[in-house]
Amino acid sequence: MIEDKNQARTSISELGEFKLIKHLTQNFKIQQKSTVIGIGDDAAVLDLKDKKALVTTDLLIEGVHFDLSYMPLKHLGYKAVMVNLSDVYAMNGTATQITVSIAVSNRFPLEAVEELYEGIHLACSSYNIDLVGGDTTSSVTGLVISITAIGDINQEDIVCRNGAKPNDLLVVSGDLGAAYLGLQVLEREKKVFEVNPNSQPDLSIYSYLVERQLKPEARKDIVKLLKDLKVKPTSMIDISDGLSSEILHICTESKVGCDLYEEKIPLDPQVISTCEEFELNSTTIALSGGEDYELLFTVAQEDFPKIKANPHLTVIGHMTDASMGANLVTRAGQKIGLTAQGWNSLKN
Ligand code: ADP
Ligand code: MG
Repeated sequence: MIEDKNQARTSISELGEFKLIKHLTQNFKIQQKSTVIGIGDDAAVLDLKDKKALVTTDLLIEGVHFDLSYMPLKHLGYKAVMVNLSDVYAMNGTATQITVSIAVSNRFPLEAVEELYEGIHLACSSYNIDLVGGDTTSSVTGLVISITAIGDINQEDIVCRNGAKPNDLLVVSGDLGAAYLGLQVLEREKKVFEVNPNSQPDLSIYSYLVERQLKPEARKDIVKLLKDLKVKPTSMIDISDGLSSEILHICTESKVGCDLYEEKIPLDPQVISTCEEFELNSTTIALSGGEDYELLFTVAQEDFPKIKANPHLTVIGHMTDASMGANLVTRAGQKIGLTAQGWNSLKN
């Protein structure tokens, strides 16, 4: 599909590595005070003053993590940055810089790599992030992208996975399950397209789902909101693999149990209607769907008044003694043990 979309096709080898890097990165402006030296030298130089550094990396492989037949390259670039920023925000930190490393085969013209960098550029300018380095190399067939995000945080603001206590409230931002359903919709359309290339899919009734899959936003706003509300979570994690798996991480690391209430799980109306259409259980999708990039955290009971009326936050349960285990309390009042099914296992 890339081949179809790009009229102009400039071979990357025509430019050579140095001109390519210069070409791709020329529009990126330095915005952070902490960036002393960015792209162009052997290493970037950052000045963190008295703050702690946060460093996190993700590796994305074509055919494993993304499929270019329905993932436009601009969206891929944007999402690759979001996935990393989300990890910085999940520590309660401020994301400040990224490095981007790519391996591209000669299957990709310059115009394709430009599109990828348009998405990276949009993410950087919207979230105030400096691109300060990376690496560029060739691959035999597919596209590989590795992004490292750097952030800073005051020691006293750091929130880990291991601080939850029994009786703390379990809270999630936004709503769950939409990104996974967006992927199901796109995969179905891909199959239809393979049979009938002239088909014009009408995805408007799935717009929210597709957007959540193709253009997720890291919840920088929630970190700020919590700061404004003067709430410091006792533990926090971002939801990349599904609610169930992330809850279990917090429970294991914090040595606590949990009661999660099925009726409290926040779902968008499009998630509910599409689950009906696809004959899927919306609770299963929220628990195991993944790629929502919402923040899941615990707060002390005394902070409840500060968060209860907030439309971005939902209390979905509370932590218990470790001996009670991690459970889903169903609408019928039944307790079922939570199991870690990431979206990969759901897919198989
Ligand atoms: P070196 O040979 O020392 O690794 P490079 O020639 O690979 O240096 O890179 C030159 C500069 O360009 C460095 O600052 C590097 O971080 C940056 N850079 C290289 N590839 C990329 C990329 N894909 N995106 C952003 N910056 C890059
Ligand atoms: Mg290099």
